[in-house]
This record gives sequence, C-alpha cells and structure tokens, in this order.
Amino acid sequence: MSKTIVFLGPPGAGKGTQSALLMERLSFIQISTGDLLREATKNQTPLGLQVKSYMNEGRLVPDELIVGLIEEKLEEFSQSNIIFDGFPRTLNQAKALDELLSEKGRVLNRVILFEINDEELIRRLSGRRVCQNCGAVYHVMYNSPREEGVCDKCGGTLIQRDDDREEVIRNRLSVYHSQTAPLIDYYREKLVSMDATSDKESIYNKIASVL
Ligand code: ADP
Ligand code: AMP
Repeated sequence: MSKTIVFLGPPGAGKGTQSALLMERLSFIQISTGDLLREATKNQTPLGLQVKSYMNEGRLVPDELIVGLIEEKLEEFSQSNIIFDGFPRTLNQAKALDELLSEKGRVLNRVILFEINDEELIRRLSGRRVCQNCGAVYHVMYNSPREEGVCDKCGGTLIQRDDDREEVIRNRLSVYHSQTAPLIDYYREKLVSMDATSDKESIYNKIASVL
C-alpha cells in the first residue's frame, strides 16, 4: 500500500527542504498547501484572489477551502507515496484528512514533528529565498546558492516571499502555537519527533530510518 506521511511543525522548520529530499531520493509526492495556494494567487484564480489577504497577513485560510484542495490532490495521486507538508494545520483539517484517507483506503503511517525554537525560525524565515521559477528553497547563510540571487537548479531568480517579513513571521508563529500545535496531542500515537535544528542530512537520515 502507498505510504502517507504528515510533516508537522512551524513555518521555517525545514519541512519543504526535507520534502524535496524525499521526493528526489525516495520518490515521494509532496502536497504542500502553501505551494498550492501560492500557485493559485500567482495565477489569479478565484481561489487565489480569495486567499491572498489571509496569506499576506499570516492568517490561516478557511478550512473548507483547504480541504477541497486536498481532496483533488488525493484523487490525482491515488497511487503515490505522499507527504503532506503544512497540512493539516487545525483540528478540523486533521479530522477531514482522517475521513478522506479512509474513503480512499489509505492509512496515515507517520507524523513527523519538526521541533525548533522561535528565535531560530525567525533567522531561517527572514533569510529564506525561493526560486521564482522552480520553487527551490535556499537560505542566504545556511544554504546559499552558488551565485547570489540565482537558482542552482534552473537559473531562475531568487526572491523573498511576501510573508517572510518580520511582522508577518511573528503572526505566523503565534498562529502555529495557538491553532496547529494542539495537533501534537491529536497525533500522539503516530508521532516521531525530530530535532529540526540539526543539519539537513542528519534530519533526512532520521526521517528515512522511520519511514
Ligand atoms: P518550511 O517548509 O518548514 O517552512 P523550509 O524548508 O522552507 O521550511 O526552510 C526554511 C529555511 O530554513 C530555508 O531558508 C531553508 O534553506 C533553511 N533550512 C531548512 N532546513 C535547514 C537546516 N536543517 N539547517 C539550516 N537551515 C535550514
Ligand atoms: P506555508 O507555505 O506552509 O508557510 O503557508 C503559507 C500560508 O498559506 C500560511 O501562512 C497560510 O496563510 C496559508 N496556508 C498554507 N497551508 C494552510 C493550511 N493547511 N490551512 C490554512 N492555511 C494554510
């Protein structure tokens, strides 16, 4: 049966970075609600126009919009090993995921919790740069590209996300602590904790060993 994994943790903890490694090395599919929503805003779809202000302010997008997106993607990737990155973020989303997985005959194998303190998250998010073209993730100090401002993978331009500004970052962290952290208890039995302050290869090895 295909594997299903949730990456749970605050913004900036390294979920996207580890998802990229799992896709490259273990042929997982990443379903990142943040990436899907950014794509929708970039293309100015009706969903994109609806969610833009929530994202720019660091607030959560309403559950029903998110669950609709996940339903579509589960259909599309019914035969794949899936990592959910940045979803679920509320108790209602977690319950909706349980229902969708059981409808599709899937089980949630593991929830990987990325543990890291807020000061380090602020350093990571304020130094994050992403490729406008392929979405590859860098950091100005921790994971810098060979040439400043240019993606190693595709030559695209690296930009700072609109919500990676300090005042929005603080809001996103507070939303994580109040609305998403309660999921740690919900997933108690499936949870494996990672020290997300270690280097990315050590974290990858630890994740790969528990899958
Ligand atoms: P998330 O998807 O959880 O929001 P990202 O994967 O985008 O987090 O990582 C946030 C920032 O931290 C990026 O700039 C990334 O390059 C950097 N980063 C990711 N993992 C590590 C790590 N283990 N050590 C140092 N920096 C990291
Ligand atoms: P991320 O890329 O995961 O940091 O998400 C960026 C933004 O997209 C968040 O600050 C929210 O506004 C929105 N978002 C992403 N995933 C979700 C989700 N599962 N539920 C609600 N809002 C989300």
